[in-house]
Amino acid sequence: MKAKIAVLAGDGVGREIVPEAVKVLKVIAEKYGHAFEFATADIGGQAIDKFGVPLPNDTLTLAKQSDAVLLGAVGGPRWESLEYSLRPERALLGIREALGLYANLRPAKVYANLVDASTLKREVVEGIDILVIRELTGGIYFGKPKGIEKLPNGQERGVNTEAYTTEEVRRIAKVAFEAARKRRKKVTSVDKANVLESSELWRKVVIEVHASYPDVELGHIYVDNAAMQLVRNPRQFDVLLCNNMFGDILSDEAAMLTGSIGMLPSASIGAKVGLFEPIHGSAPDIAGRNIANPIATIASAAMMLSYAFQLEKEAEAIEQAIVKTLDLGYRTKDIQSPGAQIVGTVEMGEAIVKNLND
Ligand code: NAD
Repeated sequence: MKAKIAVLAGDGVGREIVPEAVKVLKVIAEKYGHAFEFATADIGGQAIDKFGVPLPNDTLTLAKQSDAVLLGAVGGPRWESLEYSLRPERALLGIREALGLYANLRPAKVYANLVDASTLKREVVEGIDILVIRELTGGIYFGKPKGIEKLPNGQERGVNTEAYTTEEVRRIAKVAFEAARKRRKKVTSVDKANVLESSELWRKVVIEVHASYPDVELGHIYVDNAAMQLVRNPRQFDVLLCNNMFGDILSDEAAMLTGSIGMLPSASIGAKVGLFEPIHGSAPDIAGRNIANPIATIASAAMMLSYAFQLEKEAEAIEQAIVKTLDLGYRTKDIQSPGAQIVGTVEMGEAIVKNLND
């Protein structure tokens, strides 16, 4: 297939890890006969330095005209004193909004060799492979009315509104069932339907959408129980379907089961162009030293192949190459373990490329 990929490395370690993911995609293209065109553009602090804004129009136009976006990370101490609307992180909100990305997919997977990186016991985390799907553009973060009002008695009252429409729930539920079909075919929908009307509607619509996916198992769980079960028996979950706020919280909880931020990819999906990025930031404390872990970004590239291009075999090949590289004992500093071989960002990328070819 032919695809145009916008490559936005951004700041800090973004500039080191993204090239490693591009290397991997180039090898995939060559090996499986695809034509990937890569077009780079500036975002975040580097865009501020060059153009005075974190998300230049050219970058946004490129993203919209591409088939998928690969993003590194933005931000750093150098731009922290800028006014909020000019900060690098504004670019993330801007690009997500412009691409209409309403679904955020965050896998939390524990690789066999890294079980001990988790703070939880081996027998709890071994074999975890969860995909948290978070609704990204609705719910309490956007619902109206919102604000802080003055009351006649001199007190103030803070208000936010949790609201979902049928269509908003329907489209995110479809993403969850489709994703489950690529996995172990089980969706657990998280809600608080015993208390919240918005959750009552959420559950009703999820059940309706499920009628078109009889091959996928559907379960429902209250959010408080989900938070408990994630640390008690996380292996019971395959796809966790969440509204915006529940997903915000539970995706971080699920991520931490795995123990290392440098390993965790993400995908954001919208009407057309998807965006694929590691969940971590620009890590200024380690930037420019060839020690950042590129695996989260390489795994994000694998998600791109699966979710943007439906290239399942190719995505699986990248996953297998990552597993093999870890099995061979290669480790970046953040995931080091006794007896392992500590390698740099570039060497880790090269090892994964080599294992793709073997
Ligand atoms: P961070 O994720 O950048 O770093 C947190 C910790 O994890 C640091 O100790 C860092 O060294 C480590 N780490 C992160 N990625 C790693 C990797 N690939 N390999 C090894 N270690 C890694 O979060 P932070 O320090 O809170 O934020 C730094 C900057 O990044 C800030 O400007 C923040 O606003 C920005 N940020 C950007 C994004 C994004 O671009 N999506 C997300 C979060 C934070």
